[in-house]
Amino acid sequence: MVYDKFFAVYKENKEEYSMKGINSFAAHITDKMETIMKNFNNTEKYPPRFKVILIEDTRIVLNDSKIERIIEISIKKGMLICEFCKSEKCPHIGFCYSLHQIYRTISS
Ligand SMILES: [Zn+2]
Repeated sequence: MVYDKFFAVYKENKEEYSMKGINSFAAHITDKMETIMKNFNNTEKYPPRFKVILIEDTRIVLNDSKIERIIEISIKKGMLICEFCKSEKCPHIGFCYSLHQIYRTISS
């Protein structure tokens, strides 16, 4: 679901992005996430627990500073699944959804 929305925004703005040298969906997401993370970190009062390491078409990789582990979240059929917790409803998934909320705010 989240992924579909990301992709829809990308398709709508594809020509504009390609003029900026952003030619793939993954590059688009990486570009957006950099903006999002800057804004996110600026408004965060506490040192962030989660840091985005990598975003690809099929997965998101986070660093969880609380448990000092690298967390991989798979994107399967538009659903987010945390490979570390084997869950769809853990704090890592929650963080990904909160990124999505910020992303929507920026892109709308
Ligand atoms: Zn998790």
